[in-house]
Amino acid sequence: MRKRLLAGGFLLLALLFIQACGRKLDPEESCNFVQNSQLQRVSWQDHTPVKLYIHSSVPTQYYAPIEAAVDQWNRSLGREVIRVELTGVGGEAVPKRDGASMVYWLSQWEDDRRSEQARTTVYWTGDRIYEADVRINAEFFSFYGGSGAQAFSGVDMESLMLHEFGHVLGLSHNDAKASVMAVTLANGTLRRTPGKEDLDSLRCEY
Ligand SMILES: [Zn+2]
Repeated sequence: MRKRLLAGGFLLLALLFIQACGRKLDPEESCNFVQNSQLQRVSWQDHTPVKLYIHSSVPTQYYAPIEAAVDQWNRSLGREVIRVELTGVGGEAVPKRDGASMVYWLSQWEDDRRSEQARTTVYWTGDRIYEADVRINAEFFSFYGGSGAQAFSGVDMESLMLHEFGHVLGLSHNDAKASVMAVTLANGTLRRTPGKEDLDSLRCEY
């Protein structure tokens, strides 16, 4: 896990890895993917499109920007690698490994991690991801769910979800200027289009 605190209006986008034991594999180039302990890229491989579930804790006004972020990845890659399978999924808003890749809206967040806007937890075994959960930090941030580029405050939900879904697909952080996988996203900023670096990365696996 990479973690870095920056001053000013820049805030963290966190990524957490949870790795199960797996078979030994030969090392690979990272292509900016998360790698397992044998330096293999971890991805969904041919188990796409990834099915995303939206927990009922997520306000419905954010469904559209979430769908838009999903569409951005699919359109940019020219095929469906990720899809929203179901919205308004019931049950406790407690992220856990349960076989469903879920987006959660959390009104309580860890005090010592308050600078995180969101966090994606990726679960894999061997070199295959089998679940990825996205938490949105609704305690310490406000969000913008609108379309268009008019002035706004808060975190742009579509930009944030584009980044987090990059993690869901297996991408790590990327400091390249045009990448949507930069470690920070400033309030009031739109970053809604995957960069060339991001697409080159994804094409290593998808
Ligand atoms: Zn991130």
